[in-house]
Amino acid sequence: MDGAREVRAHRGSELHTKGWQQEAALRMLQNNLDPEVAEHPDELVVYGGTGKAARDWASFDAIVRELQALEDDETLLVQSGRPVGVMRTSPWAPRVLIANSNLVGDWATWPEFRRLEAEGLTMYGQMTAGSWIYIGTQGILQGTFETFAAVARKLGRESLAGTITLTAGLGGMGGAQPLAVTMNDGVAICIDVDPSRIARRIEHRYLDVEATDVEDALARAVEARDAGRPLSIGLRANAADVVPELLAMGAPIDVVTDQTSAHDPLAYLPSGIAFERWDAERRRDPEGFTERARASMARHVEAMVGFQAAGAEVFDYGNSIRAEALLGGFDDAFAFPGFVPAYIRPLFCEGKGPFRWAALSGDPEDIRRTDEAILELFPDDAHLARWIRMAQERVQFQGLPARICWLGAGERHRAGLRFNEMVADGTLSAPIVIGRDHLDSGSVASPYRETEAMKDGSDAIADWPLLNALVNTASGASWVSIHHGGGVGIGRSIHAGQVTVADGSPLAAEKLERVLSNDPAMGVIRHVDAGYDEAIAAADERGIPIPMRR
Ligand code: NAD
Repeated sequence: MDGAREVRAHRGSELHTKGWQQEAALRMLQNNLDPEVAEHPDELVVYGGTGKAARDWASFDAIVRELQALEDDETLLVQSGRPVGVMRTSPWAPRVLIANSNLVGDWATWPEFRRLEAEGLTMYGQMTAGSWIYIGTQGILQGTFETFAAVARKLGRESLAGTITLTAGLGGMGGAQPLAVTMNDGVAICIDVDPSRIARRIEHRYLDVEATDVEDALARAVEARDAGRPLSIGLRANAADVVPELLAMGAPIDVVTDQTSAHDPLAYLPSGIAFERWDAERRRDPEGFTERARASMARHVEAMVGFQAAGAEVFDYGNSIRAEALLGGFDDAFAFPGFVPAYIRPLFCEGKGPFRWAALSGDPEDIRRTDEAILELFPDDAHLARWIRMAQERVQFQGLPARICWLGAGERHRAGLRFNEMVADGTLSAPIVIGRDHLDSGSVASPYRETEAMKDGSDAIADWPLLNALVNTASGASWVSIHHGGGVGIGRSIHAGQVTVADGSPLAAEKLERVLSNDPAMGVIRHVDAGYDEAIAAADERGIPIPMRR
């Protein structure tokens, strides 16, 4: 792609901008495109199919230039990956406001989006790609770890020991699956068509071994399961072929899911097209390719439903594969649930979600110190402590050192304030940037994923993420974003992100306290409004006012 070059975030305590908020935005934009972090950095693609950090290289250069010049009372406006304005605001205002991939309802379709994208008028921002807070596969690792722990509980087990999980997709997000399964003591067979994804996950120690073929994968899985040994096995194959094949073989699979990029039919390789021809074929005939991809997804999901009928625990892992399979002609595609209603919603009711932070110094020691701070702040949370210890042992940093853990309302601001103190007193060598995924409790409307099967039927109400972005803007976040189409694809979601910088200043402390209290509180009130008792209890316990309940 024109202008492509290798990008890495600045490190250390020296500023390249006029303040740490601008610097944090600059470093996190650069970090999203670090070759260790991004899946296809040459094309500015960070993860999740075609999720981009900037629209094109000229826009990237212009964003960098504007961030370098931006004053502490100015705000840069980014429209789908391109900088379009600089406004005089105030020191409390975000330094950057971002709107990515948004389209008016009737126009919110992939063909219309692609037409506009081809004209250079928009880009696909996914969730944290276009909002500059992607931290590599670790970002999804804890959520995936939590999900598989919940699956084990659902199966009446303490862990996944003695079970085999079958899944596909070893991309930026899906690549967390093998490690999340082995962290839960299970065995995983993970299919991907792209050999480079398998190699990358092995290199980063997310995946243990690669099998030579289906029989080899199954034999190794059964042997490890019987020995009670955690093992993850990569298999280069097309899931649309191999999942039905394993079902037909009567393979003893206990858990089935999928994280191919099914949300975008051009990012799912149909059966019968060689991996090497993928790019050429989807360019040559996008509509014909879409039809073939959907037909393959229909076969893939039909086999998943077959495993469910055979007694396996089966769930959709947030990639819209059921909806695509339905379009591909398989009417029973929604026979299995999405992972949020099945396992995650009780956490969302408490405002719990993927809290994350990165050390702008680039020094792993800063993350080690923040890990210890989290353990000290929440000494009674054994599950959290287990995660932090395992992450320290098993997670290899990609780009700037970073950490993720799920914290809820009433917890996140305590972590933020502690990190700010640690920057102020020199315990940390540079500021910490604190953000989260858009997949959070109060920041997304996505009827096939985060808001599937809401108790009051409000799945598609998108006022909540918009209020979330507004409240974070009003509370002092460093940058705020509103996106459409992340996770599950164009037309299917609206979501918001926030990132706030702990630079050690008293102003940062005030902002952190407000943002990190209000942001997860949005999750609680959204679930109170939908009638969840767990959320009502969380609001009462944490003193979150609910006007209609006073
Ligand atoms: P990615 O594009 O980086 O990776 C997708 C992988 O699927 C690629 O490696 C590709 O080779 C592989 N693939 C495509 N078609 C295949 C086929 N027929 N058989 C086998 N492999 C195939 O995407 P990602 O970032 O890993 O995200 C994967 C999906 O998960 C996306 O739809 C994304 O929106 C969704 N997602 C889910 C969550 C969640 O929390 N559950 C979070 C973020 C993203």
